[in-house]
Amino acid sequence: MPESPRKFFVTTALPYANGPFHIGHVMEYIQADIWVRYQRMRGHEMHFVGADDTHGAPIMLQAEKEGITPKALVARIAATRPRVLDGFGISFDHWHSTDSPENVELSQDIYTRLKARGLIGSRAVEQFYDPVKAMFLPDRYVKGTCPVCGTKDQYGDACENCSSTYNATELIDPYSTLTGAKPELRTSEHLFFRLSDPEVANYLKRWTAEPSAGQALQPEVRNKVKEWLVDGELADWDISRDAPYFGIPIPDAPGKYFYVWLDAPIGYLASLKAHLAKTGTDFSTFLQDPALEQYHFIGKDIVYFHTLFWPAMLAFAGKPYRAPTNVYVHGFITFLNEKMSKSRGTGISPVTYLDLGLDPEWFRYYIATKLSDRVEDLDFNPDDFVARVNSDLVGKFVNIASRAATFITRHFNGELSLRAPDHAHFKERAGSTTVAWASRPLIEEAYAAREFGKVVREVMRVADRVNERFDAEKPWELARRDDAESRARLQDVCTDALNAFRALAYYLAPIAPSLATRATDLFNVPPNLLWDDIENVADRINPYTHLMTRVEAAKVDALIGVAAAAAAPAVATSAARPAAKAATTPAPAKDTPMEQTSPSTITIDDFAKVDLRIAKIVAAEHVDGADKLIKLTLDVGEAQPRTVFAGIKSAYKPEDLVGRLTPMVANLAPRKMKFGLSEGMVLAASGDGPGIFLLAPDTGAAPGMKVK
Ligand SMILES: [Zn+2]
Repeated sequence: MPESPRKFFVTTALPYANGPFHIGHVMEYIQADIWVRYQRMRGHEMHFVGADDTHGAPIMLQAEKEGITPKALVARIAATRPRVLDGFGISFDHWHSTDSPENVELSQDIYTRLKARGLIGSRAVEQFYDPVKAMFLPDRYVKGTCPVCGTKDQYGDACENCSSTYNATELIDPYSTLTGAKPELRTSEHLFFRLSDPEVANYLKRWTAEPSAGQALQPEVRNKVKEWLVDGELADWDISRDAPYFGIPIPDAPGKYFYVWLDAPIGYLASLKAHLAKTGTDFSTFLQDPALEQYHFIGKDIVYFHTLFWPAMLAFAGKPYRAPTNVYVHGFITFLNEKMSKSRGTGISPVTYLDLGLDPEWFRYYIATKLSDRVEDLDFNPDDFVARVNSDLVGKFVNIASRAATFITRHFNGELSLRAPDHAHFKERAGSTTVAWASRPLIEEAYAAREFGKVVREVMRVADRVNERFDAEKPWELARRDDAESRARLQDVCTDALNAFRALAYYLAPIAPSLATRATDLFNVPPNLLWDDIENVADRINPYTHLMTRVEAAKVDALIGVAAAAAAPAVATSAARPAAKAATTPAPAKDTPMEQTSPSTITIDDFAKVDLRIAKIVAAEHVDGADKLIKLTLDVGEAQPRTVFAGIKSAYKPEDLVGRLTPMVANLAPRKMKFGLSEGMVLAASGDGPGIFLLAPDTGAAPGMKVK
């Protein structure tokens, strides 16, 4: 059922422009992008924009250290953005910068309007001042001895040793990290947005209860907001900083600049304005369209600003500005359940991911499997990543087309059966195509609610049923028979599977758009798929071409290895100087690992590094809680047998493996898995279709023999 057209303005949080994107940014962009692509497929009008957050002391100081202007620093970072955004298929309509004429104009305009409403106040603030540098010091540039535990060299806001938090002014023997000078306490007049004004508080109580008709904040967000707004009391919000500062001057306060929140989020609007200018659309008219829906995708760390400060600022600035329709909050991405930390250099790099040649849609798919409408952290687990892509996306979804299309091409010259989808052979039960089509309402509801994990689970549930049904019809036997009835049945069975596959490709399109385009190209569907075409069926297919490869575990190991290697030096430098790591361009990460881990050819010396040996499987058993793994005990001619966890459960029963010989990589670094230590790797063959085939030596080989 076509929906009546809607009109969207959607943003993601602005990344600070002092370093390359980290994987958390990419995760958020993927979440928003999936939702945006779904709305576009529905035929809605979409304006999806982002921007770099460029202003502030850290960028100013970092540029100074490098001997360049802040604008030059910001431009250098901006130049790195398209590769990652395009690389991961993020379909922003426009990417802008807060260091832009639009942002200056809009920030000053919103400030002037808030001031006219009596919502800007001022008061004296006492802050550390570096007399040598002649500037007020942000907390992160002050260090000293922890007032609680006495540890030296702690930051101005928290102690790394005892985790106490305090004000910079409480540090014992404080010093400026910029000059080493002892900071002085000085007073300066700061400007404030009066969040404590009763009119503002009352407005926010209404907005947070129902941001717009029929919309609610996520329950976790609503509870948090209640703590701040109802149980607590809102404090006025500091919106100014003194020169020297890289930022937007406050119109009627010489020497003062807007601090973060009256600058950065206005970048959403600045980006929209620049985007609309490209088509000559009037910004003010556009924003005042009552049909317009405005959504912000953000992380859980900036909920306060986006649910209190931002809607209040916009609402009280008045028309054409408008409070958001809603704010969609996500959790953080963790790596093996540990927080990824940019400053500690842990986690995986999106640039390295692309450099290693890993398919970006594997990552999009994996992220989608874990996303819901909850504010939950999402874990990247390398083994789970490989398993989900290989056994689900490739093993279940791609598998349908690779098998069914082959029969249609070989036996019917590409012609599909027109008796399908609900043909005579399936009279007593619905055909696969009907099963796939029946999922549509559930999938639509899940997409609209950002329940992408649910979308994937439903698609894979249907894919399982399609594969089962296909296998039950034994098409390979039908193909061997010569009678007309078997032949018709073969064509029907394959057509039914393919029409179901076609619907599943549409369902997956917002998540894996390139894969979906290749998949539907089989049916001659032009790109830019439209949701309402899901149930169109074709009368013939193009020859099947390869749709997607499996993840090579070695590349994922390289991705993680790079993350681990990058972490080591970063610990030393970043603890001392938070800005130091960001000062390095992504170039080194790009050049070295790619050449070391993913060469197109290797020398005989490289190959000789792999210690391949014949192993005898002396025991094999299921692993509790592992769907894919078999635990193997291997005799490699050593004093002690080795334990290896092998992902071959789908193809082998443990009892059939005992006694077999197989080659193994004996010098692979042992890998700690959830189930225990894996001390090597056995070798097996696999292709696009199902099946894993363990290698075996010819008779006469013995445990411990070297393979070369
Ligand atoms: Zn301490």
